[in-house]
Amino acid sequence: ANFAELKLHPWIEENIKRANYGRPTPVQKYSIPSLQVGRDLMSCAQTGSGKTAAFLVPVINAILSDGPQALHQPTTMQGGRRRQYPAALVLAPTRELSLQIYNEARKFAYRTPITSALLYGGRENYRDQIHKLRLGAHILIATPGRLIDVMDQIVELSEMPPRGERVTAMFSATFPKEIQILAQDFLMPNYVFLA
Ligand code: AMP
Repeated sequence: ANFAELKLHPWIEENIKRANYGRPTPVQKYSIPSLQVGRDLMSCAQTGSGKTAAFLVPVINAILSDGPQALHQPTTMQGGRRRQYPAALVLAPTRELSLQIYNEARKFAYRTPITSALLYGGRENYRDQIHKLRLGAHILIATPGRLIDVMDQIVELSEMPPRGERVTAMFSATFPKEIQILAQDFLMPNYVFLA
């Protein structure tokens, strides 16, 4: 398989070339088409197997392919304030991982209108992060702790579409009992399982 077979938007295809990715890795080869048709996904793959692009590529591709309307932030008026919601939320367990994902997202969204925002713990960058998020971003990459901190002010998780009206993908190196329970709670029962 090669990336051309995935029928991606030319802008992201260009960025994949720019990153010197010749062929999709196995986790990408199976995760990307599954997410493209909107199936929920549980993907087990080792560190270094290309998991980041396995979800960022279909996310960015979907936002690009949804056309000009999706490229503008979805906005609603609430309490007289203009609110903006990201089209995609990426949760990562650590600061380091969230930063890595953010940098990859910028790489794949290079020269496209797609913007990303990063939310992770630590006092020094709190105001900057909030400011960027208020400007609006298509993709929000966050650690759970910091996301909870800002939820009431900016991101209302109650506005997040329920399971079945969103596409949810979980990526993990292992599939222990705890993750199986999470998968049951967050994914549609007919989710695709890749291992
Ligand atoms: P990850 O597992 O997402 O942390 O990716 C591990 C490393 O592999 C990163 O440096 C990626 O840039 C690189 N990588 C991911 N997918 C590909 C690919 N299809 N071809 C070449 N390198 C890749």
